[in-house]
Amino acid sequence: MVDINNIVSRGGYLVDGATGEKVLFYECDPRKNTECNREMCRGDGAEDEGGFGFCSKTLDPRFRKDGGKAWYAVLKTSEDGGEPYWGREYVEVV
Ligand SMILES: [Zn+2]
Repeated sequence: MVDINNIVSRGGYLVDGATGEKVLFYECDPRKNTECNREMCRGDGAEDEGGFGFCSKTLDPRFRKDGGKAWYAVLKTSEDGGEPYWGREYVEVV
């Protein structure tokens, strides 16, 4: 698993600065996430690309929601001409 401190932006993706590989994110299951203190938990929020904060997503496969999606963070341009943002490029992960 990537060290969160090593994540860098490269070529429009968030990648592991040590290996250059794209960082894989998972939907988080707050019930599995033993590192979340539940004080700023976003686990009850709706899934959306812009969501951030604890349990809006996780890097740790152990906390992955059953049947949840996985994705790479990719820089997207908003359709209304606003600032680019980190969206999702979904990938199939067994
Ligand atoms: Zn949480």
